[in-house]
Amino acid sequence: MVVLWRLSSLLVALALVLVPRTHGWSKEGHVLTCRIAQGLLEPEAASAVENLLPDYANGDLSSLCVWPDQIRHWYRYRWTSPLHFIDTPDDACSYEYSRDCHDTHGVKDMCVAGAIQNFTSQLEHYREGTSDRRYNMTEALLFLSHFMGDIHQPMHVGFTTDEGGNTIAVRWFRHKSNLHHVWDREIILTALADYYEKNLDSLQEDLVGNFTNGIWFDDVASWKECDNLLPCLNKYATESINIACKWGYKGVKSGQTLADEYFNSRMPIVMKRIAQGGVRLAMILNLVFGDSQQGFAAAT
Ligand SMILES: [Zn+2]
Repeated sequence: MVVLWRLSSLLVALALVLVPRTHGWSKEGHVLTCRIAQGLLEPEAASAVENLLPDYANGDLSSLCVWPDQIRHWYRYRWTSPLHFIDTPDDACSYEYSRDCHDTHGVKDMCVAGAIQNFTSQLEHYREGTSDRRYNMTEALLFLSHFMGDIHQPMHVGFTTDEGGNTIAVRWFRHKSNLHHVWDREIILTALADYYEKNLDSLQEDLVGNFTNGIWFDDVASWKECDNLLPCLNKYATESINIACKWGYKGVKSGQTLADEYFNSRMPIVMKRIAQGGVRLAMILNLVFGDSQQGFAAAT
């Protein structure tokens, strides 16, 4: 019995290692989040970011925001794989750092919220940085920028058994997909095709317009309210799992076709989460690199 249990848990562990999971907003989602953030940087943060980016990025943070997804299977970076998401107990529809922020081996802090804390703390040492620290600081910036996108993708704070919707096969209009991927990419691509002639710049313009003088204008101040990073990250992750339950999973069965009705009701949520991710990433970078020397109370 014990042997059997061990064998089955070994198989489960193996399956977890072997089955690739998709992680985070698609390229488009991360690019939007990072472009929005970079547009909101104050001068100190803007020059720090520019200084940390490699020359080939041409000062464009968004060109490297998807980098953490590209390297997560490389041997050197395999440890970063669990940092893209949080698995919460099935159907609990809640998030608790101490209960949920760990990898499949139970190693604490190995989740997207822990990663954001860690890389933010690293960046707070930026001013002391010497040239030999520069490379790490660059990685910290790219990881932070990417993970601030991921924590806002509702299905990245999803249920454990279905891997945030990855194992829930659905059809998106006429092609095969899965529930996680619908939120990572399908909704964004359909929106781009239906409303923006596949032009990411126009979509970005719309999102920025919505919070500079549009429907989210009154909410932006509360989006970026944050004195202490950990409670803020708890809030972002809680928002995500709540949306995952109320809008992601709700009414969706494996094998179902999701089309107009799902798209029309969920698209505004996806757009708001991308904008929130961008606004909040800018808030963190402005605090970390800003003149005030204040930083976050709890970050070390
Ligand atoms: Zn990711």
